[in-house]
Amino acid sequence: MAYTFKIQPAEKVRLKHYDPEHTGGLTREQGEAKLAVLSKELDVLQEELYAAGLDSVLVILQGMDTSGKDGAIRHVFEPCNPQGINVTSFKVPTAEELGHDFLWRIHQQTPERGMIGVFNRSHYEDVLVVRVHELVSKKVWRARYEQINHFESMLAQNRTLIFKFYLHISREEQEQRLLAREQDVAKAWKLSVGDWKERAYWDRYIEAYEDALSLCNTEAAPWQIVPANAKWFRNVAIAQALVDGLRPRRKKWQARLAEISTARLAELKVYRDSL
Ligand code: AMP
Ligand code: MG
Repeated sequence: MAYTFKIQPAEKVRLKHYDPEHTGGLTREQGEAKLAVLSKELDVLQEELYAAGLDSVLVILQGMDTSGKDGAIRHVFEPCNPQGINVTSFKVPTAEELGHDFLWRIHQQTPERGMIGVFNRSHYEDVLVVRVHELVSKKVWRARYEQINHFESMLAQNRTLIFKFYLHISREEQEQRLLAREQDVAKAWKLSVGDWKERAYWDRYIEAYEDALSLCNTEAAPWQIVPANAKWFRNVAIAQALVDGLRPRRKKWQARLAEISTARLAELKVYRDSL
């Protein structure tokens, strides 16, 4: 069973029609047990992906402030070998980055074959925060949806498997999370006045997200909307989508691993025979 919402081709996404509270009929206990199983499978898949070195995997996480991008990365990839995973957080661009096209800094961080690259924010910020705050003209950001589709399609044609997750929380849930951070001294470092300021732009962000989700939902790089009010369910949904997406590649990776093993054993035999 899939726990994320795939967007239909050509669908004009209206986020109010997607329920952020959805928990797939699972209890929290069932969800946590499920995550444990899925994360273990993800660890096995990651090792085969790495050893076979045929494909790369790009996981893009987007969502409003407090939607749980960091938490999802921590929990979903916890059992995986850290050497096979590269996490990149995209912040406000530096002067050097701004001196190039918006995809320049992104392309430098795309995963090499065998690796899982996780993006905490991404090139989508260039049609989200940049659009909401009018950091470039409408003409410039308008053109970016198509540029993004071309870029992602190029990556996919070069054997990058792309997963894009929008972590969907409600406005009320965000308020609860921001207030909770204020109550917890140990978590207050996460607070920023900016989060409350950005919250005032909620509706404009939703509008920008709806366009990004609708206009950049391609076959090569489909979006999945993850109900994220329940943190545990968010993790299950992402892990399930990754396992479902990677599992079909396993046969190919295992065949490659068998080839590599045969070659290595043959080399070893030649060496031994020469002694
Ligand atoms: P955080 O994810 O809380 O560490 O914050 C990173 C900040 O960088 C967010 O406020 C983003 O909106 C901002 N950011 C990321 N990419 C861009 C971009 N391309 N242009 C402007 N701001 C960005
Ligand atoms: Mg933040």
